[in-house]
Amino acid sequence: MTAQVETTLRGPEAFSLARQALEAMEAAGVWPTPLNFELWIHYIGTPESPLSREMKRLMELGTPFTEDISEMLMSEYLPRGRLSDEIRDAGLMLNRELNNVAEVIASAQSSQAEYGQTLAEAGASMETSLAPEEIKRLVGDLTTATSKVHLENATLEKRLEASTREVAQLRQHLEQVRRDAMTDALTNLANRKAFDEELDRACAAAGDKAPLTLAVLDIDHFKSFNDTWGHQTGDQVLRYVASVLGRTLRSPRVAARYGGEEFTLLFPGETARMVETVLNTIREEIASRSLRRRSTNDDLGAVTVSIGLAQKLPGDTAVALMGRADEALYASKHAGRNRVTCATKLPRSARAA
Ligand code: GH3
Ligand code: MG
Ligand code: MG
Repeated sequence: MTAQVETTLRGPEAFSLARQALEAMEAAGVWPTPLNFELWIHYIGTPESPLSREMKRLMELGTPFTEDISEMLMSEYLPRGRLSDEIRDAGLMLNRELNNVAEVIASAQSSQAEYGQTLAEAGASMETSLAPEEIKRLVGDLTTATSKVHLENATLEKRLEASTREVAQLRQHLEQVRRDAMTDALTNLANRKAFDEELDRACAAAGDKAPLTLAVLDIDHFKSFNDTWGHQTGDQVLRYVASVLGRTLRSPRVAARYGGEEFTLLFPGETARMVETVLNTIREEIASRSLRRRSTNDDLGAVTVSIGLAQKLPGDTAVALMGRADEALYASKHAGRNRVTCATKLPRSARAA
């Protein structure tokens, strides 16, 4: 469940949201199972989210909401697990600390107000002529009030310091969680989400003037490699390819595992001509190494990769650029694999496809 919906479910609009979700489910002819209920709570609570848009699209197509569809939506848009739990926990802790700080501030304000009141009363008394014992009592009262405020200030300061430390730790923890959310766990490269964000940023920064080149790299015949040597050894190969990419592509270049055995590479400020040479070096380096299976030392032979690249054209969106790099990759596969193809070198018909 997203934080926004979580918060709404604990606020004044909770019952209204739940009622609307039930009504919408009934109108759509959907059973109010816990799974569907969670989906519809999001549908009503965050109508502009990607999940809600997808649900709307499916309903408009008249797709029946079978359990499979609901499960698929859930796993794609609201994955459960360590990360969302951690974010939720950190959010709850942050909330607690912020409440603490608010309490400290409120308490400081009330003791300052009280002290101000004592001073004002003392001031008023001074205006009339006072007997020596009354002056003594007044000074005594002021001394007591002053030391009370001193004591309270010291306590508040300590609590504030503790809260500040706690918030700093939480911030560090959240930073780690954010990094994890952007990293592919198997290869330690950026993941698809991180890459998509980088690509959008790079496209905006490049505009129609600065060069920007994107490449898509796919391991050749990886399915049969997995079938022959097993998934674990396949994972070892993914890490090997990622290590070559990570070594060659330092910032501002970006290398990401986009999914499965496909990697995406971004070269801000570089033309396709410059990048093609780099990619051929990477391709040759990957193919040049004869790999060994760690557990048995079996000779696995070499793996090869096919690559497609495209340079951003004026007016290109991230999607269009990715599409042209993909076409170039397809051309590399089609021409026999273990090669690099630049989108501009494709025949017009292939580019239009
Ligand atoms: P092509 O040369 O045309 O790219 O053929 P291919 O076999 O590489 O492509 P295909 O799309 O048919 O198969 C991709 C394979 O990648 C299927 C799957 O077993 C493997 N794969 C995807 N993700 C992982 C992963 O995380 N670990 C391992 N070991 N294999 C994966
Ligand atoms: Mg492949
Ligand atoms: Mg593939």
